Amino acid sequence: MSDLPSLISLREVGPRDGLQNEDPVPTEAKVELIDALSQTGVRRIEAVSFVHPKAIPQMADADEVWKRIHRNDDVRYSALVPNLRGARRALDAGFTEIEVVVSASDTHNRKNVNRSTEESLDDIAGLIASARDADATVQVIVSTAWGCPYEGDVPVERVVAVASRAVRDGADGMSFGDTTGMATPSRVQRLVGEFRSAHPDLPLNLHFHNTRGTGLANVLTALQLGVADFDASVGGLGGCPYAPGATGNVATEELVHMVEDMGVATGVNLEAMIDAAATAERIVGRTLPSQVLRAGPRTRTIPG
Ligand code: ZN
Repeated sequence: MSDLPSLISLREVGPRDGLQNEDPVPTEAKVELIDALSQTGVRRIEAVSFVHPKAIPQMADADEVWKRIHRNDDVRYSALVPNLRGARRALDAGFTEIEVVVSASDTHNRKNVNRSTEESLDDIAGLIASARDADATVQVIVSTAWGCPYEGDVPVERVVAVASRAVRDGADGMSFGDTTGMATPSRVQRLVGEFRSAHPDLPLNLHFHNTRGTGLANVLTALQLGVADFDASVGGLGGCPYAPGATGNVATEELVHMVEDMGVATGVNLEAMIDAAATAERIVGRTLPSQVLRAGPRTRTIPG
């Protein structure tokens, strides 16, 4: 395991990707969760999204949440947006890191934001320019990068073409999202390989869902390819809108638990993250899928 990165950067997406796919929770519960996460050592938190409240009522209080959290100076907070209008709200609220999402699958993009992938990419070009003017950075997240619930497999060439258009338009970083957990290690290897040969120096984040149990295997594969930036969700918070009862993102504490034991530093205090996962579980009022939350770290002993 000598070739793994010695340090990786994690972005906690539970408050956004997680809670967006749960039944709505009160504003103060979101604030409590983000405040708990801000004390775990994690350096980046995707705190809110600025989307139309009719589309995603779970995020209607984004401005309020952002105002009320206790920001830790050691944490970078970001907002997810679907378009230029959302980005303007995020910039007005003071965010300097924005993630904008576009689907590689045209059908998924139309269902999500009512426009084609190409139209979204045109909008994103303007969004990047606006963010520049405001001294903010933009990471473009290409979702359904390993498959679409409507179209099935999405060709790697298509995903790389969508990403490349955003790179040409000035994206500061790229993320590939496995929106419905269709990635497997061989598919991760192929997409990361193709993207890296086109854009060797662009910062790359990967966002895996554990919908089909391949989440950590995909993370490990990506680590072996030198990827050092991942999204994860505390407790495995969230779900899949197309598959009721399915699990959500890779659980942050499971990822931390695995990679730290392999000599890969995350900056995250595992016990603090497990405590935050317990908080998340209480907030949503259902058992979360994280197995490290259930069993504790591998070194936990019971009185003999
Ligand atoms: Zn996601």
